[in-house]
Parts: sequence; C-alpha cells; structure tokens
Amino acid sequence: MIASNERTKGYRGEAKDALVKFDVGVWSDVQIESTTGEFRGIILPRSETADDKHIVLKLASGYNIGIATDVITNMKELGRREAHYKIPEKEFPTDDGKPNIVLFGTGGTIASRLDYRTGAVIPAFSPGELYGSVPELADICNLKTEKLFGVFSENMGPTQYIKLAEEIGRAIEEGYDGVVIGHGTDTMHHTAAILSFMVQDSPIPIVMVGSQRSSDRPSSDAALNLINAVKAAAEGDIAEVIVCMFGPTSDQYGLLHRGTRVRKMHSSYRSTFRTIGDVPLAMIDPKKITYLRQDYKQRRNDRNATINTSFEEKVTILYYYPNMMPDIIDALVEKGYRGIVIAGTGLGHVNKPMYPALERAAKAGVHIYMTVQTLWGYVQMYVYETGREIMGLGVVPAANMLPEVAYVKLCWALGQSNDPEEVKRLMLTPINGETTEREPYNGYLIYQGEIPEVQDFIRQIKR
Ligand code: ASP
Repeated sequence: MIASNERTKGYRGEAKDALVKFDVGVWSDVQIESTTGEFRGIILPRSETADDKHIVLKLASGYNIGIATDVITNMKELGRREAHYKIPEKEFPTDDGKPNIVLFGTGGTIASRLDYRTGAVIPAFSPGELYGSVPELADICNLKTEKLFGVFSENMGPTQYIKLAEEIGRAIEEGYDGVVIGHGTDTMHHTAAILSFMVQDSPIPIVMVGSQRSSDRPSSDAALNLINAVKAAAEGDIAEVIVCMFGPTSDQYGLLHRGTRVRKMHSSYRSTFRTIGDVPLAMIDPKKITYLRQDYKQRRNDRNATINTSFEEKVTILYYYPNMMPDIIDALVEKGYRGIVIAGTGLGHVNKPMYPALERAAKAGVHIYMTVQTLWGYVQMYVYETGREIMGLGVVPAANMLPEVAYVKLCWALGQSNDPEEVKRLMLTPINGETTEREPYNGYLIYQGEIPEVQDFIRQIKR
C-alpha cells in the first residue's frame, strides 16, 4: 500500500483533489479523458513550487505535458510504472592507444537531469554516469572527469574563470591531449572569451560544450554535443578555446566556433550558437571533422602555454538605448568603475546628452571602449561627425569585437595595467581573432543558416 502523500507527491489544491477523486496517483499509468481529448501516460510527481491546477503526464513519446484539472472528466489507472532516473555507473575503460582527455564539469544543463521529485534540474555528473549514458565516448578516448563546480552559468564569474584557467594549465602540463569543459550555455560565450585571453598558445584543443535540453528529454542534444566535443578534443587539430554545439536545428552536424567570435543567439533552439563576424572553424559529426578554414592555431606536441588570470571586476557593459540618461555614467564613476564597454547604435553612437558625462568619466581615468549592438560589422567613428566627437571625448573604438568579448577583455586588460596606452595596446592587439581585418559578407548565413540554399550548399560540401 502506497502512503497517500507519496501518491500525491508535489500535488496541491485542485490537482491533488483530482488525483484523490479518481483514485490515481504519482507513477500511475493512466488513461485520461478530457474535454480536449484522451491521453495515456504516466503521472509524474510535481515540483513543490508548481501550480495546483495541472496534472503532469509523461507520454509514451517521452514528452511531458500538463493537463488542466478543469478539463479532466475521468482518469483510470491501468497500472503503475515508477521510473528510475538513476544513470547506471559503469567504469570507463582505458586503452593505451587512445588520446587522454580530461573533462571539467562546471554545471549547466549538460551536467543535469530532471529530478522528478522536486521538478528541479539537478546536477548529475561522474565519469561512470557519463560513460553509462554515452558509451560512445570510450571509442574516442580515455576520459577523466573532474567536477570543478555545479552551477548554472549565470553564476560563473572570475573565481570560476581563474580556477578553470589554472586547471587547464595543469592539464596541459600533465600531458593531456585535449580538454573538454561542460558548461551552461547561457554564458558559455563569456567563458570561452575570457579563457581565450587567460590561456594563450595552448598546444591542445580546449573545447567548451553544453546542451540546450537535459539528457532525460528525447530531444536532448547533450549526448551528441558531448561526443562531438570529445572528438574535437581528442582528434581535432584546433588548439584554441572553441565552442562545440549543434549546427542546424536537427542533429546533422555540430559546429566548432572560435571562442572569441561566438554567441548564444536563441533562447531555446539547440542550434543556438553562432559564429559572429566570421565563418565557423569546422563542422563535426561523430565520424569526421571538416575544417572550414585554415587560419586556426594548430595542435602541437610541446607543453607550453601562457596562463594569465588577471581580472578587474569593476567593469561594465552599457547597452545604449535612445534617451539613456547621462547620470548612469556619473553613477558608475562614483562607484569606482574602471572600465566601460558601450554597445552603441549603428556604427558606434550614443546621444548628445551623454557626451559631457563620458568626458567626465574619461577625465576621471575610466577606460571607455565602443562596440556595436548590430554584432556584425565594425565600429566606424570617422563616418559621422558625432563619432569623431565621441572619440574626442576619450572613447576608444574596439573594431569588430563583440560587446561581451570587449567586456571580458577589458576586465583582463585592467587586471594588468591602468595606463591608458598600455590598456589600449592590450585591447586592440588581437589575441585570437577577437578583432579581424574584415568580415566575410556571407558568413552569417553560410554553414549556420537555415534557409534552403544554405542547406543545399552544405549538402554539396558534405558529399
Ligand atoms: N541556464 C542554463 C545554464 O546556462 C542553461 C544551459 O545549461 O543550457 O547554466
């Protein structure tokens, strides 16, 4: 006999009343009749914080749906099927002939599964679990996993960046053939950029990977992204910080993006990462890596890398909007901010009332850089009189550096110097493609678009 509170786990109010009324419960395999149709599935436990007006059902397809209690006319228990969400632990096999890869876990959806008791997405990460759920990894390499943190990526910051950079440095010294970093997708591009500055001239690939859908969902991208990322780290030739995620919305291939030119561009698509201002470095699938360009840093056999973990926290991005008030700038100066990256309109503009405040800030020693909200294209402050005026106030144009990249680079540069000329030198000397001499006219479509002619193009080169 199942205790009645177990049978209604997480359900409250109307939803709980409905379970009791029809004598069904959590893990019941039910047939539901409702005014919107009939449904068959398993009743899942609900989150303690969920609303009290829906029953959550796992359908045979694997998808979860919520059914409003007020449309339900009958529920009939056909059986009970308690799900087991524990991933089997298996010992990762070692093979001396295979490359050695270390996977650092930082958290995010890739390291998560849904806890049906609380409804929360919780971290699940160990070498055994990983091998248990993605056994293909053992065909590629010997994998060591190390959980460094268990955070969603909005909680990443300098403490984690520095630790990661140091651990990567150690992995290089210890002779690993590649590093993979499991990371939440939301701020993966920030981490990819800062690691590109903190770990320079790595002899091995440093591959960041995440997933948009957790591994318990049928549409999860976790396994394929992981296989591709491990392959890029073990067999790939690109010794840079790169991001490995879905290319198109389907699972045809992944893309390898340079860490300083990549951005999360969609809140829910699996094909969310896009190279901005350039074409991606490579396409990847479990069988092969197709390099799309040659100008990447190649894998080497030495163990040299430069680790520089400087980071000044008093830096911000200011996303300009019409009618922004200049007092924002004054407030930043007053609060001791040392650097401001402006994401300006068009070629790099802000409104006139901001000018005196920018001048005051620059005179107070704040380092101010201009980037563009359009993401594609360059800051060009010579085109309009206004641009020239803004530069005259002490604002430095940052070419085609992405705003987030300019932000982390300024944090990194100001961690090393306060001299405006030295900071400018650090900011404007490209370390790994964060500024480029020109942008390809079609990069924003080719290899990573969804329109038919782009798909045709890809089909041709994949042949
Ligand atoms: N919120 C999650 C994170 O960035 C999303 C993800 O992992 O994709 O940590």
